[in-house]
Amino acid sequence: MPNYARLPVSFSRGDGAWLYDETNKRYLDALSGIAVCSLGHSHPAITAAICEQANTLLHTSNLYGIEAQNRLADALTKYSGMDTVFFANSGAEANETAIKIARLWGDKHGIKNPAIIVMENSFHGRTLATLSASGNRKVQAGFEPLVQGFLRVPYNDIQAVRDLITRHNNIVAILVEPVQGEGGVQIPDATYLPQLRSICTQQRWLLMLDEVQTGIGRCGHWFAYQQYDMLPDVLTSAKALGNGVPIGACLASGEAAHLMSAGKHGSTFGGNPLSCHVALAVLNTIQQDNLLQRANALGQFFSDYFQQQLEGIPGVVSIRGQGLLLGIELDRPCGELVGMALQKQLLINVAAECVVRLLPPLILSDDEALQIAKSTSSLIKTFLSQSEHTSI
Ligand code: PLP
Repeated sequence: MPNYARLPVSFSRGDGAWLYDETNKRYLDALSGIAVCSLGHSHPAITAAICEQANTLLHTSNLYGIEAQNRLADALTKYSGMDTVFFANSGAEANETAIKIARLWGDKHGIKNPAIIVMENSFHGRTLATLSASGNRKVQAGFEPLVQGFLRVPYNDIQAVRDLITRHNNIVAILVEPVQGEGGVQIPDATYLPQLRSICTQQRWLLMLDEVQTGIGRCGHWFAYQQYDMLPDVLTSAKALGNGVPIGACLASGEAAHLMSAGKHGSTFGGNPLSCHVALAVLNTIQQDNLLQRANALGQFFSDYFQQQLEGIPGVVSIRGQGLLLGIELDRPCGELVGMALQKQLLINVAAECVVRLLPPLILSDDEALQIAKSTSSLIKTFLSQSEHTSI
């Protein structure tokens, strides 16, 4: 179906931070399959885990015990501080699970027509419920009627959330990204998430964090909320959890961890031996290779570099980043930069029309990081001067 506007290249193999096209031309990957291949391409530990599990057992269904699923649940709850996990196959499905948990919470507490607070410019996926939760008309248009039960407020605006307390008595949860990725690498104030946490605790709402893009080391912690002294009630993960093998997870803590019961929710593929064994290898590799520290160090390098090279240049609005989720906002739409970078054999992305977004793998060498930083800065400078000329 013609639902993707694809770039004129396809890759036949990958190695670390590099992708090779059909003519063996190589491209430096500063996007990681949109925050998925955080360990790069063809990582030996991941390849070994896939082969090992393919040689043993791929799938049995959730009708039976799954040892790798138990081990992965143990690792994820240990690293996150959460209590229980449901396994799905994508970020959208993990968020669907979160939305269903919020509804069960309402049901349990006798709240009719439960509502979830969601944010402007958020992105939670493409299923009907998750696109309805998303704050982006482009992903919703044409799919009406939308799923009901969402109240929208501006991101990073605590007062807007507080204002809803007296106006609605059917709120059950807040669903929010710790950093808005698709929304253009929007980083909230340091007090925002902790304040949402305390409002949720006071109001007996669930705080549900969508860490599909920010989690599994991307922002320099296992999960981005871990830079604060807090725990969500519900947490979703996907993308980098499988490094390319599809897997999603919805974690819960406290009362929220025990709302599901047998038959309430399920998935044929979710949590199968293959995806769980691979995800365990992902977590072990991040741990063993100290990649959380590496993401922070590389993130600092990129921020410093871009600040030196780009700050104050007319057309550059702001330089933002948390770990290796990096954004450079320009004062004009800059989608064109993606094609310009491709010409230079560099893979980058533009989010929210005006924000150059980089999501490089956590395994970058210093040289590769420098190469990405140099090329991106010079492309942005070229783009700004060219588009200046065009507008004159
Ligand atoms: N949530 C966030 C924050 C995302 O960035 C994405 C994908 O970009 C999703 C959910 C949807 O994930 P998936 O495409 O795996 O369904």
